[in-house]
Amino acid sequence: MSAAFVLAGTRIEVWRTERLGRVSLRHAVFDFDGTISLIREGWQSVMTPMMVELLGATPRAEEKPRLERLVRDFIDESTGRMTILQMEWLAGAVSARGGAARTAADYKQEYLRRLGAHIAARITGLQQGYTSPDSLLVPGSREVLAALGSRGVVLHCASGTDTPDVRREAELLGVAASFAGGIHGADGASRSCSKKQVIQRIFSEHGLSGPELMVVGDGYVEIEEGRAAGAVCLGVATDEAAPGRVDERKRERLVAAGADVIVPDFREAQILVDYLFG
Ligand SMILES: [Mg+2]
Repeated sequence: MSAAFVLAGTRIEVWRTERLGRVSLRHAVFDFDGTISLIREGWQSVMTPMMVELLGATPRAEEKPRLERLVRDFIDESTGRMTILQMEWLAGAVSARGGAARTAADYKQEYLRRLGAHIAARITGLQQGYTSPDSLLVPGSREVLAALGSRGVVLHCASGTDTPDVRREAELLGVAASFAGGIHGADGASRSCSKKQVIQRIFSEHGLSGPELMVVGDGYVEIEEGRAAGAVCLGVATDEAAPGRVDERKRERLVAAGADVIVPDFREAQILVDYLFG
């Protein structure tokens, strides 16, 4: 696969040009985890063993390698969706194997408990000031938020993570104030705040036409939803474990989802924003 073109002297890949440069961007919706924040890096390595463990304990469980493959594929394709929906899948998969499933809300609670332990050191480091927020931001995040802000673009954040957690983490990283349009996350066991709804609400509240909104994310879910709504879609293919490098699997999924532009991170923010504004 290769892009339509790469902006000269940059790593900014332009895949589709139809929606670019037609009108000025007025609003942008950023995904949070993996797009701006690296605090939850490695969540897959918490969710995968938990699901494999629970499925492995059911009466009609497959062999472990097969379960691991199944779970990895599911997590791949559900990245960017709300946790509660991922846990609904788990509950269904436990039942389908003859297990006594708990509710999706119970599973979500257990997952968040395990994830909390995994990310506790990062949160504490930020709170106590011995971890620099920049080390847990996708490179160039501040620059891209500032560059869009200076063009008058209203920034929103939409995440599948629970709202109070997204708010707290955005504050710890020093980016919360950039999102004048609000920070929208999930709400406990409810499935009511999807990225799709956030995107639709911004369109209707501000009377936007397609390319006046840009959706920015590292998950194919938000890119597909942005694309369906006619928004400009910017894919961020950062390798969360090695920021600065490209995660090739992410990149391929973002291309397949229909991203207009793909960047490895935001270090070329000014060039990117200038290009987006023609
Ligand atoms: Mg993400």
